[in-house]
Amino acid sequence: MTPTLERWTVERSKELYGVQEWGAGFFGISSSGNLQVTADPGNFANAVNIPDIIEGIQARGLDMPVILRVENILDTQISLINDTFVEAIKSLNYKGAYLGAYPIKVNQQQQVVEAVTRHGKKYHHGLEAGSKAELIAAMGMLRDTEAVLVCNGYKDEEFIDLALHATQLGLKCVIVLEMPGELPLVIERSKATGVKPILGVRVKLSSQAGGLWAESGGDRSIFGLNAAQIIDVIDVLKDSEMLDCLQLLHYHLGSQIPNIREIRNAVAEASRVYAGLVAEGANMHYLDLGGGLAVDYDGTQTNFMSSRNYSVNEYCVDVVEGVMTVLDEQGVPHPTIVTESGRALVAYYSMLLFNVLDTARFEPEPLPESLPEGTNVHIQHLYETLQSLNLRNVQECFNDTLYYRDQVRQSFAQGKLSFRERALGDNVFWETIHRIAKLAKDMPQVPHELEGITQALSDIYYCNFSVFQSLPDAWAIGQLFPIMPVHRLDEIPTREGLLADITCDCDGKIDRFIDSQGVKRTMPLHELKDSEEYYLGTFLVGAYQETLGDLHNLLGDTNIVTVRIRENGEYDFVGELEGDSVEDILSYVEYDTRALLNRFRETAEDAVRKGRITPTQRREILQAYKNGLQGYTYFER
Ligand SMILES: *Cc1c(COP(=O)(O)O)cnc(C)c1O
Repeated sequence: MTPTLERWTVERSKELYGVQEWGAGFFGISSSGNLQVTADPGNFANAVNIPDIIEGIQARGLDMPVILRVENILDTQISLINDTFVEAIKSLNYKGAYLGAYPIKVNQQQQVVEAVTRHGKKYHHGLEAGSKAELIAAMGMLRDTEAVLVCNGYKDEEFIDLALHATQLGLKCVIVLEMPGELPLVIERSKATGVKPILGVRVKLSSQAGGLWAESGGDRSIFGLNAAQIIDVIDVLKDSEMLDCLQLLHYHLGSQIPNIREIRNAVAEASRVYAGLVAEGANMHYLDLGGGLAVDYDGTQTNFMSSRNYSVNEYCVDVVEGVMTVLDEQGVPHPTIVTESGRALVAYYSMLLFNVLDTARFEPEPLPESLPEGTNVHIQHLYETLQSLNLRNVQECFNDTLYYRDQVRQSFAQGKLSFRERALGDNVFWETIHRIAKLAKDMPQVPHELEGITQALSDIYYCNFSVFQSLPDAWAIGQLFPIMPVHRLDEIPTREGLLADITCDCDGKIDRFIDSQGVKRTMPLHELKDSEEYYLGTFLVGAYQETLGDLHNLLGDTNIVTVRIRENGEYDFVGELEGDSVEDILSYVEYDTRALLNRFRETAEDAVRKGRITPTQRREILQAYKNGLQGYTYFER
């Protein structure tokens, strides 16, 4: 990239990194070029500079990488969905209410669930549990008897008993039947315990949805009952005189549904099913739409899988309207609408911050004025090709240079070239490719073959984090997240690069970036400075990333810091969780670290015996080993 002479402004950085598009009003750039965060969307009067928070984190002795949570962004999101549903209900004169239920699986961390129940209390925001462990967590966290506690997932006897106990305590705990086999067990446990359950059924809708996670809807979905199976449920409940227990209809189309039309189709179909259940005599109160409310990760507002073509307001209005349209036509009373939005609630409030350790550039060394006497003929050809390159023969020179490069490599393999000559050949080759890339920028029509050339020449920025641990969806399903520098945004980013993590795995990289025109393979970055760390952030990572992550290369949980922004623009550190130490990680993979230390001690003593080290050196080496065990698994400066 050629630096321009024009003055770079923070406005241009804002545009370049799409801050306004994906940031939902939470992120902005200060006049001094720092990325800012606010919990009050669009209001930057009291925003906090992210680099200041990094400084505060480091002053407290925590190293990068860090997951930074801004607790009141979560509050804002909880309020947003609840307030927006209430407004839609009011404006459409809907007769039922709205209740949210946060699905614990989206981010199970205690701090997160605690924050949801604390701020959600005034809305009676409940929880959704998909396993026994999640139910146990939910029962410990939720005290609000007006909120719903929705139980999905496969349920064994213990799961059902726990749910019945929750009901006994007065919690609105709904057992959602997902499988035909669950009903007899629920009836049996209900009789045995004498507790009348609140039941729901999960329906398989035929409405299909697009997007990466959408396969849980539709006829082939793993979960849920089809129409015939639901009729069976009704008949069995009738026979057991328990039809009044059936109060909720549930479905879940899948997560991150980018297209509002699919959401509307599902609402319409589910409302018909709901009316059918009412007609069958069930004591229906709740229509639970599950999750699916998408996050606009790339800021394009399209039905692209990393985006969504609707706003939260549109979602709420369309849902309420969709339910009303069908039920009014059937003369069925309006139910309480329940949604289990997880992603939209928690994605915004976490960001992953990390430093860049080093870069690699694919740039040739300066070439000699002329080639030395007796230079290998293929290298001479390469050099001549370079000399003849101009705007009219770019493609031809590209072909030639690839051909001679291969000849040089072959000659080296056959022992006809020295290693030093081979290096000269490589240098001439890269110089040519660089000049071709520059010329290609001025070509009206870039030949197809040359399109990938900028990417091939881009830098690699080595970053202090693990994709596998912290951004598993970026690796596993190619999800896009916004990524950008958190400072120096008043300077022009003169480099183009991709990011490599520190796992040394060739998959441990990020080379797909958000872009208004689709997906970019590199991103603009600043040149590293000798005396200064360069910090990047990956944003909107609060949903699904933390516990899906794994211990690839034994890189563990990162440090987690939670702040709360005050109204006067100051902020408080309200929580910190130290990431895994090396010792923690080793014990996860079943090492006995005491035994490890003892064995190492013996190795060291052996070395003393053989005169390799002195006893004092042994002490120092053992101390270093112990420090290593207690240290962070990431790169420490
Ligand atoms: C995963 C899941 C959700 C959460 O979906 P989001 O798209 O993250 O809101 C809700 N309900 C059920 C049953 C789920 O399995």
